[in-house]
This record gives sequence, C-alpha cells and structure tokens, in this order.
Amino acid sequence: MIEGANILGYSLAKSGHVILKAKEASTQNELPFDFFAATEDEIEKAVQLAKDAAYAYAQTEPEKRAQFLESIAKEIENLGSLLVERASAESGLPQARIEGERGRTCNQLRLFAEVVREGSWIEATIDLANPNRTPLPKPDTRKMFTSIGPVLIFTASNFPLAFSTAGGDTASALAAGCPVIVKAHEAHLGTNELVAKAIMRAAQKTGMPEGVFSSLNGDGFKTGEQLIKHKEVKAVTFTGSYRGGMALHKMSQEREEPVPFFAEMGSINPVIICSGILKNNAEEVASTYASSITMGVGQFCTNPGLLIAVSSTELDHFKDSLSQQLNGVPMAPMLTAGIEEHFINGKTKALSQNHVDCLTDESKSSTLASISAKKFIGNPVLHEEIFGPMSLLVECESEEERLVVVENLKGQLTGTIMANESDQLIAGQIAQILENKVGRIIWNNPPTGVEVCHAMHHGGPFPATTDSRFTSVGVSAIKRFARPICYQNFPESLLPIVLRDQNEFNIPRKVDGDWIL
Ligand code: NAP
Repeated sequence: MIEGANILGYSLAKSGHVILKAKEASTQNELPFDFFAATEDEIEKAVQLAKDAAYAYAQTEPEKRAQFLESIAKEIENLGSLLVERASAESGLPQARIEGERGRTCNQLRLFAEVVREGSWIEATIDLANPNRTPLPKPDTRKMFTSIGPVLIFTASNFPLAFSTAGGDTASALAAGCPVIVKAHEAHLGTNELVAKAIMRAAQKTGMPEGVFSSLNGDGFKTGEQLIKHKEVKAVTFTGSYRGGMALHKMSQEREEPVPFFAEMGSINPVIICSGILKNNAEEVASTYASSITMGVGQFCTNPGLLIAVSSTELDHFKDSLSQQLNGVPMAPMLTAGIEEHFINGKTKALSQNHVDCLTDESKSSTLASISAKKFIGNPVLHEEIFGPMSLLVECESEEERLVVVENLKGQLTGTIMANESDQLIAGQIAQILENKVGRIIWNNPPTGVEVCHAMHHGGPFPATTDSRFTSVGVSAIKRFARPICYQNFPESLLPIVLRDQNEFNIPRKVDGDWIL
C-alpha cells in the first residue's frame, strides 16, 4: 500500500478551507491550517481504488475483517490527546465531550467487529434439494447477504468522531465488506486527517487491500457531486440539512444506475408531556428538558424541538421553571459559523410568526417559545427543525386536541412520552399515533442520547430520513450496505464459504426453515 495514496486530497491543491477557528482553540498541532480540495483526477483515482478493492475486501474472512475494525479503534486511541485537542479546537466542543465521543467511536468499531465474527447479519439460509419431490423436484437454494460495493460517506458536522471519518457509517460499511470513500466535513478537516491516517495504518497493519478506504476534502457541490454521480459508487450516506440531503438524494436517483441513499435530515423530536406527570413532577421534568434542549448547544439530531402539553396551572409552573433554567445556561460557541447563522435565522423566523410567544430572554441563545395548538397545526414554518438550543411548547386545550396535534406531525426520528401511571390510558392513544410517525418511541427519558446496541433504531419516516426501513446507529446499520443473493443448484466448490455444507466459520444459519446455531 502506498502511504498517503488513498487519503487523496487531504494535503493537496489549495482550496482555502481554513479550519482552525479562533474560538476556544488552545492547542495547535503540526497539521496544516489550510486544507485542499481533491482534484477531479484524485476523485477518480479514489473511486477506482475502491472499485478495485471491492471484490478482495468483500472476500476477507470474518476474523480478518474484525481485526481490521479493532485495529482502527486501537489506532484512534493511540492518537491520544492530539486527537482530542484537535477535535475540540475545530468543533468548539469541550474536551470531555470529545473524549466521550472517542469512546463511543471505538466501542462502535469493536461492536461491529463482534457482529462480523458472529455472522448472523449475513442471514445464511439454505433450503436443501429434494429430487424426489413430486410433481417437480425441489432445487437446492441458498441465500445470503453480500457487500453492495464502494460506499460514499458524507460525514456529519455535529459528531466530529462518532458520525464522521471512522463513525457509525464507516464502521458499518467496512463491517459489511464495502470499501469506503469519505467526503470530509469542512468543519473538522484536521480531525478527519488524523482519523483517516489512523484507518490507513490499521489497513496496512492488517493487510487490507489498497483502496479499502479514502478520504477526500472539497465542497459538497463539486467534490460531492462528482463522487455521488460516479458509476462505481454503490451506496451513499449523509447526515445534515434537509436541503443538502434532498439535493444529494436527487443526484443519487437521477444517475443512470440509481443507488441507495441514506440521509438523516431534520427532525423536531416531539415530546408529549402528560398531565399526570406534570402534577407531581413539573420541576423535575423541567430540569430534564433544560439539560436535553441545551446539551451540545442543541446540536443533536434528537434534540427535543417540540413539547406538547395540555394547558393547566401545573403547565404554567413547568413553563416558568424551564424558562428560568434556560435563561441560566451560559452561551457557548456553535459548531460552525454557518450553523450558528442558520440557528439565529431559524429562531428569528419562528419567533416572528403570529401568535408565537418567546418565554425566555431573547438575547440568550437557549430559547423556549410557546403557541396554541390551533395556530401550530396550520403553520408549516413551525414544523421545521431549528438546529440548536430551542424548543417550541404547543399548548393544547384538551387531550383530544393534543391527539390532533400529534396526528399532524411529519416523520420524526423520535417521539417521547413523559407520563406517570395516571396517564397510561391517554399515553396508549398517543403511542398508537406516534408509531406511524417515528422510528423510536421513548418513555420518560429525554430523546438525546442514542445507545449503540443491537436493538437500536435511529431512523424514521420522511423527512427525518430518506429510507425509514434502515438505521444509522446500532448493529442493524450494516444492512444498508448489503444485498441478498441467491444461489440455485450451485456446485459446492463454487459457493461462497458461508453457504457450503460445512459451516467453516461456525455462524448461525437457517437450514430448511430451522435456525442452526
Ligand atoms: P449541510 O449543509 O447539509 O452539509 C452536510 C454535507 O453535505 C457537507 O459535506 C456539505 O458539503 C454537503 N452538502 C450540503 N448541501 C449540498 C448540496 N446541495 N450539494 C452537494 N453537497 C452538499 O449540513 P451542516 O453543514 O452539517 O449543517 C447545516 C445544517 O444542517 C444545520 O444548521 C442543521 O440544520 C442541519 N443538520 C442537521 C443534523 C441532524 O442530524 N438533523 C446534523 C447536522 C446538521 P460542503 O458544506 O462541503 O459544501
């Protein structure tokens, strides 16, 4: 493997991306301050390398692929404080948050290593032949999931590690046996470079084919477009704005060969606060939501942008308490100047809508506003994500009106019900409506904080994502990069190893309808 050949564009022609924001930048390391956009030739080379690597990488034995993923985690950990300081300086996020994110990133890689070793994601399924069946003999039929090919990943601004260069998308695509091409986010190019080189070192150490990973800099419109339109790119992931996601989705579908496009875009993550819990715990619920709304300066895809409650004196108490707590949250820098501008514009627009009252100090960034259910339902502006520390409280006159509000919501990543035992009946009705609106229903927890585990689903009906059948967090994320293939009456020696009679890798398989574990 040629050192640097695959991390194309990370230190090449000048594009004027100046990445170290003055902000809180306390540490500067030896990485360059200017980063350079990949040329058309470099983009072409990265994709060709990925294409050439695709077959060999897809054939890697589970143990070897798992070791590659574990080695990436180790290389990232070996970067030590250099990575933490760089990511913190570029994002403005505190070092403790970056350390937590690094832990999540490495755990995620190790979890996918285990998924690859365990092997059930392949869904190896064998229906044995029955030549004596009448009137027609039954053929030997064997099915498995196989790698889809090179995957293009647009990294996220709001998770410089866990949803970026070696984040969940990369970990799950590599686990599925797909080469990865990362389009780095301009908000953290230095972090990207450090992590990209760590992945390259891991690839070299574990003998992975050249081209298994590349990272390219450049803007979405030029670099991103050339990549997404390339015929050898077979799937795309994206986390970001509705506008960006939809523009890229259109390109992915208008190619001569349309490809799967998995975008996570805007979500306002409704929180239904039931009346029983407000009666007993208004103060506690207010504290929970003051933290959740402002966590990470509100820059989480699961930020609770909408609170829905029925008017009462307890609700008035909750509003006062939440507003006071939000007023006390100190200002903090946002991830990029662009995100801050979007937030200020979005907040100003929302607050200028008829009948919207701002309940917090308007000069502070953490914001709580309120509106009646009737006015909310008919105003599409108020159904849009405002990425940042802001939440809109929708006040309903009755439980019936609350159900109408929930019925009128668009697709969301999450829906939360805050309730106690006295709320069970109405909570059940709300849950029934939410099931058609969201990917994850949460009971008495704030929506921020997404567990990376086997049962997680981090997706949701449009416009939260472009394909609600899949998740970007958790073990099932691997399915985005795999497609089924069936072999009929194939000679044993030509079958993929996992479908041969002898279960060489000792993975769970379904034979004639029964799981053999
Ligand atoms: P973004 O503007 O959507 O950009 C994300 C990536 O997509 C970048 O690499 C960008 O490239 C590329 N891109 C954007 N528009 C494109 C287009 N029309 N054609 C081709 N490529 C395009 O997201 P962001 O910079 O991270 O943040 C902006 C806003 O996105 C936020 O204010 C927030 O509203 C939303 N956001 C939402 C989430 C969420 O999880 N819900 C997460 C992050 C951001 P370049 O920038 O390099 O051109």
